[in-house]
Amino acid sequence: MSKKQYRIAVIPGDGIGKEVMPEGLRVLEAAAKKHGVSLHFDHFDFSSWDYYEKHGQMMPDDWKEKIGKHDAIYFGAVGWPAKIPDHVSLWGSLIKFRREFDQYVNLRPVRLMPGVPSPLANRKPGDIDFWVVRENTEGEYSSVGGRMFPDTDREFVTQQTVMTRTGVDRILKFAFELAQSRPKKHLTSATKSNGISITMPYWDERVEAMAKKFPGVKWDKYHIDILTANFVLHPDWFDVVVGSNLFGDILSDLGPACTGTIGIAPSGNINPEGDFPSVFEPVHGSAPDIAGQGIANPIGAIWSGAMMLEHLGEKIAGKSIVDAIERTLAERTLRTKDLGGNADTTACGKAVADMVD
Ligand code: ATP
Ligand code: MG
Repeated sequence: MSKKQYRIAVIPGDGIGKEVMPEGLRVLEAAAKKHGVSLHFDHFDFSSWDYYEKHGQMMPDDWKEKIGKHDAIYFGAVGWPAKIPDHVSLWGSLIKFRREFDQYVNLRPVRLMPGVPSPLANRKPGDIDFWVVRENTEGEYSSVGGRMFPDTDREFVTQQTVMTRTGVDRILKFAFELAQSRPKKHLTSATKSNGISITMPYWDERVEAMAKKFPGVKWDKYHIDILTANFVLHPDWFDVVVGSNLFGDILSDLGPACTGTIGIAPSGNINPEGDFPSVFEPVHGSAPDIAGQGIANPIGAIWSGAMMLEHLGEKIAGKSIVDAIERTLAERTLRTKDLGGNADTTACGKAVADMVD
């Protein structure tokens, strides 16, 4: 039993975020009770259209003071495009968290669950079970570059990839450590050093250097083009896959797509050192088309809660939630409509909470 009490900032945001978060909290409370973990939740209404309408901004000026000392942030969904453009809502909240809280790891599991139809033929639960680790702060998504001679025949546009030794090494270290903690102890690096001739060879070099510090981890690398093909053709080959910001972005959508619905995929934006809180949130957005109907699948939010517990060091409690999700999804009547069931959001959430042991 852990003595520590974890303080969690809860931000439901907009749309179905408000519907799935209560189910995530219900399941977290059930797991915490079963495993003697003490969780304290502080609720915040910012990062939402309602807040923006009242205050003209997505978050209060002192948002960092309000949530910066929490052990983690549990987030629903941001965005209400009918009222506020996505770039305003996103840059006014989640992207601020990533940058100001140095969340340099974006982590997503790729796991085929029972009851979830995979678009890949002949794949069953157990065949696909790996993690995508994406570098989240530099690489191709730098703002370094510019446009010269606009609207002339000499128009000239560049954007540079920025790789720092610190930035590359810290994401690789995280990925190797994750690989080392898993039974297969296998790491795959995404590269493109045959075409991108300066930054990608550097990335490969740093992978090789890091690998020397993890002699127990088998590693390989693929160019991003064939790697995406192999995600589809041979998803069973992978255990931990690490990529730069752009390559990781692509892989972290492709991977979960191979394992079924957007409604169940979780994610973490992580500051591994714990200097700042990490954010755990379902991959899906606010889904205005189904918001308010009580039919959203809460599994993405619930699974994100499990990742949060694991990040906090409460591995057994976290795993108990993932196991409960598997048992729930195996029963058709407990699944939501997007998975061919007839359970509503609350019924599905309650079923997972009851299954936690
Ligand atoms: P984002 O807000 O991240 O830009 P988006 O608005 O383009 O994403 P989502 O809000 O994720 O997209 O919704 C995409 C589609 O998936 C919608 O039709 C939505 O209804 C469906 N969907 C998303 N999440 C869920 C869920 N939890 N349960 C059921 N359906 C979902
Ligand atoms: Mg959206």
